[in-house]
Amino acid sequence: MLHERRYDEVVPAAPIPKVVVVGAGFGGLEVARHLAGRPVDITLVDQHNFHTFQPLLYQVATAGLNAADVANVVRGLFHRQDNVRFRCATVTGVDWDARTVQLDGHPALPFDHLVLAGGATVNHFGTPGAAEHGFALYTLADAVRLRNHVLDRFEAADADGADPADGGLTFVVVGGGPTGVETAGALAELFAMVFRKDYPSLDVSSARIVLVEMQDHLLDPFAARSRQHALDTLTSRGVDVRLGAAVAEVTASSVTLAGGEVLPCQTLVWAAGVQANPLAAHLGLDQGRGGRVIVAPDLRVPGRSGAWAIGDIAAATDRDGALLPQLAPVAMQAGRHVARQITRLAEGKDTEPFRYRNKGTMATIGRRAAVAELPGGIKLRGGLAWLAWLGLHLVFLVGKRNRASVLLNWAWNYFTWDRGPRLLFRVGSRP
Ligand SMILES: Cc1cc2nc3c(=O)[nH]c(=O)nc-3n(C[C@H](O)[C@H](O)[C@H](O)COP(=O)(O)OP(=O)(O)OC[C@H]3O[C@@H](n4cnc5c(N)ncnc54)[C@H](O)[C@@H]3O)c2cc1C
Repeated sequence: MLHERRYDEVVPAAPIPKVVVVGAGFGGLEVARHLAGRPVDITLVDQHNFHTFQPLLYQVATAGLNAADVANVVRGLFHRQDNVRFRCATVTGVDWDARTVQLDGHPALPFDHLVLAGGATVNHFGTPGAAEHGFALYTLADAVRLRNHVLDRFEAADADGADPADGGLTFVVVGGGPTGVETAGALAELFAMVFRKDYPSLDVSSARIVLVEMQDHLLDPFAARSRQHALDTLTSRGVDVRLGAAVAEVTASSVTLAGGEVLPCQTLVWAAGVQANPLAAHLGLDQGRGGRVIVAPDLRVPGRSGAWAIGDIAAATDRDGALLPQLAPVAMQAGRHVARQITRLAEGKDTEPFRYRNKGTMATIGRRAAVAELPGGIKLRGGLAWLAWLGLHLVFLVGKRNRASVLLNWAWNYFTWDRGPRLLFRVGSRP
């Protein structure tokens, strides 16, 4: 006999899956956004209360943009999405049996799905002194720290006189990938366009920018003509490019190259290496090259029920098994993919493998100079590539206010040959 439902009987609601996303970077934001309107309870956790647009950090470091232009408060991004909560905290561990995420100084968060999107960090490859004396460019704090230091060097040289032997005005950038090329080009522009006018009693042309790259070319993932364009442009703008050179040791006042040459130098920017967030090791997950978490084709973490890994922290591969690059579009597409898979699982469907669609790569070298390699074999160099680079970064920048502010700053810098944010502020502790 069929059981008849009584009018006062309460039908238990299906439990709403709890999704914890670690990291509000490119990948983490996409997971949360693409679960909008879905019956899930999302908690986005980040150690900062803002999202950072890393591709433009070098412009903050070289006084082209304000720090707030490249960052966006996470809570503000989800005002209209009521299934997302934000927790500003550092993830310190995961209890895999209890299925909870442990936070620094806050109660643990239970999860049904855990998406690891903690990104990457600098890799000094054990180079003596590099971690202690080098400047990395991964966070907003890194960028402001470097900008302060560069301004400090010029203030000191203006006050005390520039002595090439003390390396105060020598700036060594390590790594000829996009970040190194962009940073070296932007420093050259800052010195030639702005500091020349800011410090009229200083011979700014005596400032040296040295770009050190281990391989015999710059911009490794690009075609030979693009690499040559970057080399020619940087050289013509006064950057001393050292190819086939490696840094052996760094001190507060010098950089020693592998061949034995010692460059007096007080500023070293380390743009040479990247490794997965140490959280990957801390959580006891299987790791591949660069410490990246091994993932299944659907981006689940094998052997850890409910766990996914995306973006720079994950070792996702393409159809041929080649490791995908640590780039923003990879993280964003992976974030959207995981959001879809969580929805599919809730609907009782199987997961699908992640397929990355490569939309090309770009790097800028400075004013009206960039290289862009797009699908279909399209290769752009010079002004056209630069415009494409500007347009694409504006489109991908998070937040309308940031886009407006960046556009205004770029237009100002371009037409006035000036730079705005050259504030040298030291935020000390309270007296
Ligand atoms: C200087 C620089 C320039 C770049 N330029 C380009 C470019 O031009 N084009 C391009 O495609 N890519 C570029 N990239 C790479 C791109 O930024 C990354 O591939 C992308 O950010 C990866 O996204 P993600 O979500 O994996 O990590 P991220 O965007 O790095 O986000 C990780 C988030 O996790 C948070 N987090 C980390 N650990 C913890 C923890 N324990 N607890 C809580 N929160 C934590 C961090 O605060 C961060 O917000 C650049 C990177 C750098 C550093």
